[in-house]
Amino acid sequence: MEYIRTNVLALEDELHEALRECGWKPWATSKHLNREAFMKEMVDAWHFFMNIMLGISPGMSPEALAAEFAEKYYAKNQVNQDRQRTGYDGVANRCRNCHKDLDQAGVSLYSPLYAGSFCDRTCVGEYGRKVREYGAQDS
Ligand SMILES: [Zn+2]
Repeated sequence: MEYIRTNVLALEDELHEALRECGWKPWATSKHLNREAFMKEMVDAWHFFMNIMLGISPGMSPEALAAEFAEKYYAKNQVNQDRQRTGYDGVANRCRNCHKDLDQAGVSLYSPLYAGSFCDRTCVGEYGRKVREYGAQDS
């Protein structure tokens, strides 16, 4: 876990270094882009990204990992395009308790007791406990 944490922090730092190579601030007038410097920072970010991915995939070659990642990227890209086409609001079709995307979870359990969908019975119970303890909440 320390390895993942360190590489996530390094990845975030490289992304912020990339941000410094362009005029991203909406309140500033400069909209510059130092493309070469930006690209160098993104390569550094990619290094830490790959450290994380290889760290969670013991024994996997970078090529096999890239193939798996590309397959998952294109599948998720299709989901995103479908969401844009159908007016995805980011809130609907999520577990009422843990907010997990029910499309991604692969299951959806409707509870007439709390008038909403949940990812599993544990979340129905957990939501019920929160309602009894704090009253209805949907934040
Ligand atoms: Zn849930």
